Amino acid sequence: MASNSQVITCKGVVCWGGGEPVTIEEIQVDPPKATEIRVRMLCSSICHTDIKRIRGSPLVKYPLAVGHEGVGVVESVGEEVKNLKEGDTVIPTFIGECKQCENCISGKTNLCLTYPLTNNGLMRDNTSRLSCKGKKLHHIFSCATWSEYMVVDANYALKVDPSIDLAHASFISCGFSTGYGAAWKEAKVESGSSVAVFGLGAVGLGAISGAKMMGATKITGIDKNDMKREKGEIFGMTHFINPGDSDMPPSKLVKELSDGKIGVDYSFECTGISHLINESLQATKVGTGKIIVIGAPTEPIEPFGFGSILQGRTLKGSVFGGLKANSDLSIIADKCQKREFPLEELYTHEVQLADIHQAFELLKQPNCVKVVIKI
Ligand SMILES: [Zn+2]
Ligand SMILES: [Zn+2]
Repeated sequence: MASNSQVITCKGVVCWGGGEPVTIEEIQVDPPKATEIRVRMLCSSICHTDIKRIRGSPLVKYPLAVGHEGVGVVESVGEEVKNLKEGDTVIPTFIGECKQCENCISGKTNLCLTYPLTNNGLMRDNTSRLSCKGKKLHHIFSCATWSEYMVVDANYALKVDPSIDLAHASFISCGFSTGYGAAWKEAKVESGSSVAVFGLGAVGLGAISGAKMMGATKITGIDKNDMKREKGEIFGMTHFINPGDSDMPPSKLVKELSDGKIGVDYSFECTGISHLINESLQATKVGTGKIIVIGAPTEPIEPFGFGSILQGRTLKGSVFGGLKANSDLSIIADKCQKREFPLEELYTHEVQLADIHQAFELLKQPNCVKVVIKI
């Protein structure tokens, strides 16, 4: 039996169908089963994947308990949970790490086969611990962080130092870490290299930060919002391009800035805008260019020319920037706790959980990077 077998009734944000406005509801949160933990959320934030799934996605089942970024405290644990206990501060994750499967031991990928990214929005036994008005709620991946309580398998949670800044912990639970990991783990950016980052939201700023840590010397950020220039520079960007200022395609503008005008060594597509995958490809060097696609997709992929790939470039997609949910994210959490990243620069807006509707307006403001949800 779980350490608390009572059903908890609390507030949570529910999306009843794609394209419908979200509502604040009373939800019921069942106790955790044997390998699960129930988490009292302390702080959450908004990632573009949440917005895309609220707008409607064929991948998602509704009704949906929204949110996948956040940090909380373990309220109760199932009887088989060994690695976590009541009162631990945890970041819920959307991939796990068994350290035993073929992928985990390969050292080549973070995509654990035992605890995978799930799109059905259910627990590992294909049921849900969350319900509202008698209806089963689905999660975004394995999480439902815009709720006062949620249940997650203990393998999808990372214990962190309780003194960690809660908003910053929320930022590293998805967006920022995805970018940082893409430069660190997925691209393995080499010292002295050149980098282009398309889109300077939290993911792009994370990619800049990761590229700088790896020793990249020329880091060009591309964003149509001039207010992102200052943010990019704080994280380590050396050059900025606003593609709105020119008739030339962004890839050409990146090339113009590069040594010998032959492009960059690495590019990171952080926007999810389909045609920018091709721009990211074209911006890199023939023969050696490496492109990492990490933006949450907004539309079907557009075809790109054979030539871009045949000319020796490598195109790679990544979930969570190639970060292992335990061994790598714990290193980032440690750096976050020691305030090695200027994550306060991401914190531009906040709302109370009950005022979640205001958050969608705040996201449209040009100076908005992250909206924190106080729970
Ligand atoms: Zn594994
Ligand atoms: Zn996310």
